[in-house]
Amino acid sequence: MTAALTGLAAALPASWPASLAPDRLEVIDVPTPYLVTDLDAVARRLDRFTAALPGVRAFYAMKCNPAPEILHTLRAGGASFEVASLGELRVLERLGADPAEVLYSNPVKPPAHIAAAYAAGLWRFSFDSPNELHKIAGHAPGSAVYLRLHVDDSASSFPLSRKFGAEPHEARELFTLARRLGLRPYGLTFHVGSQCATTAAWRRAIGLAGRVLAGLLDDGVRLEMLDLGGGFPARYTAGVPPIEDIGTTVRAAIAELLPYRPGLIAAEPGRHLVAEAAVLAAGVIGREVRAGQNWLFLDVGAYQGLMETIQLPSGWDFPVRSSVPGHGLVPELTFTVTGPSCDSSDTMFHGLALPATIDVGDVLYLGSAGAYTLSYASAFNGFPPPAPLFVGRSGGT
Ligand SMILES: *Cc1c(COP(=O)(O)O)cnc(C)c1O
Repeated sequence: MTAALTGLAAALPASWPASLAPDRLEVIDVPTPYLVTDLDAVARRLDRFTAALPGVRAFYAMKCNPAPEILHTLRAGGASFEVASLGELRVLERLGADPAEVLYSNPVKPPAHIAAAYAAGLWRFSFDSPNELHKIAGHAPGSAVYLRLHVDDSASSFPLSRKFGAEPHEARELFTLARRLGLRPYGLTFHVGSQCATTAAWRRAIGLAGRVLAGLLDDGVRLEMLDLGGGFPARYTAGVPPIEDIGTTVRAAIAELLPYRPGLIAAEPGRHLVAEAAVLAAGVIGREVRAGQNWLFLDVGAYQGLMETIQLPSGWDFPVRSSVPGHGLVPELTFTVTGPSCDSSDTMFHGLALPATIDVGDVLYLGSAGAYTLSYASAFNGFPPPAPLFVGRSGGT
């Protein structure tokens, strides 16, 4: 250790909460791997989202991170929730949330989940096909239904690849069928794709929804909800539009492109609310040279929560720091960074610049790790997922 560098490191990115700075995490006496979330940062994120999108009700997409501490924090801040399954609804019920306040936005649902959610008091279900309408009418008679529209998601990092969404020209026939089945035509929704990096995607989607709303008016159908879905981006290593810019675009589009303003404008932010509020601490368990390349082995891999790093051909970059004194200021080498399992498919980063001296026992800190990490994690090969820790609010350290 170079004494002059002790306590020194390159500045943290603006997205990284000061409460989770590496030198503060180093004094936490918990073995790696762990995922530490600042609940105050989560609360601030929701406040800023609400301020940027006044009049838009946030329904947190809990699949992104269903930790009860986070759900509780968001609920206390005025958010409601979006679920994809009965299992998620049961978690909310245990927390004391009212199912009547929850949106069930998965367009293709198991019949038993529809029936049980309906019995619990949930009354709003999404759909994108005649089949799903028949299912909902059979298992949740009289419920309110909102149509998932297919929109252009090419501006997002994780397009939904046509898995869901009806075409706009199908809307009138679908709502006519809904009425015939005794269901209540309720709303429209879309998803511009996760980590959407252009504000224009929302304007296009709202414009398309506006044309559908106008067509439905001709049939005497006036909807009560427009749900903007998720896709609001978080900061990783590349720039993204600030939520205020998205808010400005959305507000203008709602004012200009809809034939009327539905009573409820909803949104389903996931990643945006929680990603930046957490840091993943991974221990270095091995350093090797393979075919002339430096490899670093961590106690967390794709299967322990870093799944998003292997979902895109181009890879996925988290802001990275380490316990090496002077990180960012000392000489570096590039590493292939892999997980602890006996598979090569858990390799997360290629060509990652790290301090040249990094070795077994050091810790890698990955910022913006609060979304789609723990909710994906398994104990594959016997390596446990990161332990969840919380600071701020109800959390201690
Ligand atoms: C996953 C999902 C979301 C949240 O997406 P983010 O990109 O995390 O904001 C919202 N709504 C639905 C229906 C989803 O499936």
